[in-house]
Amino acid sequence: MGKKIKKENLKKLFDDISKEYRVIAPVKRKDDYVLMEVKDFSEVALDYPTTVLPPKKFIMPYKEPIFALDGGEFKEIIPEEKVAFFGLHMCDVNAIGRLDLVFWNDPYYKARREKMLVVGISCKPIETCFCKSTGANVLTNACDLFLKADGDSYVGFSMTEKGRKLLSQLYFGPETVDVKEVKIDYDEKLHLDVYAIGKKILEDYNNPVWEETAKKCLACTNCTLVCPLCYCFDVIDETFVVPNEGQRVRCWDSCLLLSFARVAGGHNFRKDLKARYRNVYTHKFKTFVDEFGVPSCVGCGRCITFCPADIDMRETLSKLGGA
Ligand code: SF4
Ligand code: SF4
Repeated sequence: MGKKIKKENLKKLFDDISKEYRVIAPVKRKDDYVLMEVKDFSEVALDYPTTVLPPKKFIMPYKEPIFALDGGEFKEIIPEEKVAFFGLHMCDVNAIGRLDLVFWNDPYYKARREKMLVVGISCKPIETCFCKSTGANVLTNACDLFLKADGDSYVGFSMTEKGRKLLSQLYFGPETVDVKEVKIDYDEKLHLDVYAIGKKILEDYNNPVWEETAKKCLACTNCTLVCPLCYCFDVIDETFVVPNEGQRVRCWDSCLLLSFARVAGGHNFRKDLKARYRNVYTHKFKTFVDEFGVPSCVGCGRCITFCPADIDMRETLSKLGGA
């Protein structure tokens, strides 16, 4: 059951949320859109194709201190701020839901997520989108409130208690809209049965597609940086010049880097780019599915848009079979 809100009342919703949360929303920056902190509703660009970096930029920051050594004493650093996302697309909302499956028992992640508010909004799918293939086009309870475009208005759907509280505000009209399932529907350029493809990856281990793609790939890691579901990290101890002071930080890493699989003694069990590239797909479409029942890809298309070598994940998947 949803409730209508007029476009001109979105500012009231934004202002209410801003009273309690640090609000992160899409903003236009030259030719791109980025997720960043926003203080005034006029800065928000709700009609955007996709943002360069996904919400993971704020949920698991690029470099996050988790312990501090302060005067010889260890102190755990648990995040305390309350963050609200305002205007995430369905794919990014569901990417948060899939990150929850992995990190819910991680104390730093959980502290942020429990205090977080997620407001999603309708999108206009672009050429690189394939969220339908990954099942990420359907609303789930990773979203507190979803605003579905409806002519000159939106219909708000609440998925949690936080969302229901917002929906009870007067700027949502009394009219209710009955919908069984909230989803984004469109014609995908290439519809893929990613579950069937995932099953084939290990069976067809030496498929020529890995060699072909590794020849083109620059191992620049752009694709893993912009992916809302690539979450490899490293842990580094930093010491400061002052005695007995330092910190332990968690920072983004990428399994496409040569150093990622190097272990003690110098052995590297994924020395070839071909093996590293296959590992990305094996994790996203086979082992993650085996463990959690969904792929660790929401079909947002960022890895396609931002690949300097024009590698298109959909083409690689379709070569593996199952298009
Ligand atoms: S693998 Fe590519 S399409 Fe899938 S979620 Fe990551 S960036 Fe988006
Ligand atoms: S963005 Fe493209 S070139 Fe760079 S690592 Fe990913 S697939 Fe390779």
